[in-house]
Amino acid sequence: MPLASGPSAGFCARCGGALVSRPPTACPSCGYQLYVNARPTASLVVLDDLGRFLALRRAIEPMAGLWETPGGFCDGFEHPRDAALREGREELGVEVQIRDFIGMYVGAYEFQDELLPVLDCFFFATVDPAAIRLDPAESTELTWFDLADPPKMAFSTMDEALVDAARLRESLPSGK
Ligand SMILES: [Zn+2]
Repeated sequence: MPLASGPSAGFCARCGGALVSRPPTACPSCGYQLYVNARPTASLVVLDDLGRFLALRRAIEPMAGLWETPGGFCDGFEHPRDAALREGREELGVEVQIRDFIGMYVGAYEFQDELLPVLDCFFFATVDPAAIRLDPAESTELTWFDLADPPKMAFSTMDEALVDAARLRESLPSGK
């Protein structure tokens, strides 16, 4: 299968012609310029009153069976904050309250046999824990971990964001 949309794309997305070098490059057949940029995602560090964060066990590949924070890709022109709200609704079955921005992290996501660059945007959030209804297609279970002592997460950007989240939480007047 030809690689189509990642940093290793070998064919032009417009005319299908073979590329002679990897993006960023121009198609030698039609001149179309191909750039590959990190795709934005939105993720939630949902905190409870005890300073713990919500982790979901992934039901789907890649990284099925590992712990993750809720989140997903932004659709089209969707703002990451809106994507964070939507993903919270979809994955937790409840309206979450988005709080402070934590940060952005560049990572890698394996999709359709390509390793794609992603720009993961993390937000603090709060939720009524009793109202959470997991989508079994996305997650097999949930738990709450101490923000100061997180496990190894499914993606390295989550590990990085949780370190920053723990530090930020100490410095925020609201504690969230
Ligand atoms: Zn072309």
